[in-house]
Amino acid sequence: MISPSKELILSRSTPMLTPLECTQQALKWIEKKTLTHDEMINLNKEVINNFKEYVNPGFLDYRKSVTVGGDYGAVEWRAGGLNTLLDTQGREYIDCLGGFGIFNVGHRNPKVLSAVENQMAKQPLHSQELLDPLRSMLAKTLAAVTPGRLKYSFFSNSGTESVEGALKLAKAYQTPRGKTTFIAATGAFHGKTLGALSATAKSTFRRPFMPMLQGFDHVPFGDIGAMRDRVYRCRSTGADVAAIILEPIQGEGGVIIPPAGYLTAVRALCDEVGALLILDEVQTGMGRTGKMFACEHEGVQPDILCLAKALGGGVMPIGATVATEEVFSVLFENPFLHTTTFGGNPLACAAALATINVLLSEDLPAQAALKGRFLLKGFVRLASAYPEFMVEARGRGLLQALEFRRNDIGYAFAQGMFQHQILVAGTLNNAKTIRIEPPLTISLDYCQQVLAVAERVLGRMRGKEPVHHKTPATVAQPQSHIQVPVAASTGLTA
Ligand SMILES: *Cc1c(COP(=O)(O)O)cnc(C)c1O
Repeated sequence: MISPSKELILSRSTPMLTPLECTQQALKWIEKKTLTHDEMINLNKEVINNFKEYVNPGFLDYRKSVTVGGDYGAVEWRAGGLNTLLDTQGREYIDCLGGFGIFNVGHRNPKVLSAVENQMAKQPLHSQELLDPLRSMLAKTLAAVTPGRLKYSFFSNSGTESVEGALKLAKAYQTPRGKTTFIAATGAFHGKTLGALSATAKSTFRRPFMPMLQGFDHVPFGDIGAMRDRVYRCRSTGADVAAIILEPIQGEGGVIIPPAGYLTAVRALCDEVGALLILDEVQTGMGRTGKMFACEHEGVQPDILCLAKALGGGVMPIGATVATEEVFSVLFENPFLHTTTFGGNPLACAAALATINVLLSEDLPAQAALKGRFLLKGFVRLASAYPEFMVEARGRGLLQALEFRRNDIGYAFAQGMFQHQILVAGTLNNAKTIRIEPPLTISLDYCQQVLAVAERVLGRMRGKEPVHHKTPATVAQPQSHIQVPVAASTGLTA
């Protein structure tokens, strides 16, 4: 029997391989369809060591899977069904994390896989010189499926790039008009490249990289009065607002839903002063909140829409910046103003086209609304049954959050869920909040199972915390009796 995961983490690496041997070893793992017990032990050892020596040892401290993955750590091996994944030890997890929002159409959705495989057999990447057909078809599809006058698309490889594209597009449009200020919201997450990071709000992610791009301001999310004040204050100093960038529902901020009417009011404010509205639907888009796009809940049309994450169907990475003709036309004269080699490549476009097809033909946005209501009802009940641990459960569609009273309580809950093979995790900007973000294909049976396990986990936590159970008023104070290994974590937030 091999030692617990701690020793695996500390175990020294295998002798140094030549680069050729490294690739040969990796290719052998890739070829394998199944693992023997010994192979599993070797693979897990190798992976944990590689993270320590070559990726970033910090991950081993943060990833709960390493500390609670049993004797060998939890190393991912393959997708299971649409809604599950398996580790190298053959344990199957119900996915309530959805890869942080990428698996809206499930894992290895057959339609998406088949589109990508067919395109792969034909031509994976294109010449970069001739006109590529799939890019044109995806752009046309997005024009049809996105709200309002959104029409032209620029494709990239990630959410942060889709935001970069939006910011550059807004600048190209507004700089000649003398408008230079960007207003984002507190709690916002727009990605981590320097431009997108300037719009992101969290100090932990920003401070080491100061100064950010000039002209970025943050106002409290959901407060139209604060937004209006800031916009007019900027105007009065000549730093007119080029664009307001918002998530319709803040994802990494902890699934924060603004008051009804907020987006509509921001849209009106933008029109009033000639500012552009950029909506970042990288996480809320593609059916997640019960509509294809979250802005449709209020019938609000942005000038620029950012998409990524689930757009690639959990098979390929792809980002899209979709804009109105009026705004996008600043790139007509010179389409090379903003380019990327891999953005909108044929494999990614094939995946996105199939993904949109699945979302529409299976009406997954409506499915998200239905199952979301069922799950949320259960979580709201748990929140009121366990007030010493939970502040509330909230969400829209299948973008939900469980807010706990303290970080360590959230960690303990996520860890308990993980031990029962249900994958959940924290949010990047709000560590007290555990996200519930399963594939939109999740079955009602699984939803029921998730709620039952959540109840069991909370019940067990109560058993360990009798004092807090009896005096909920004091739970905001420290002195936890919950056993939480320091290394356990539910997200990557410090
Ligand atoms: C995840 C996310 C991003 C960044 O996407 P990446 O693909 O990780 O770069 C941007 N905006 C929002 C709203 C997100 O949730």
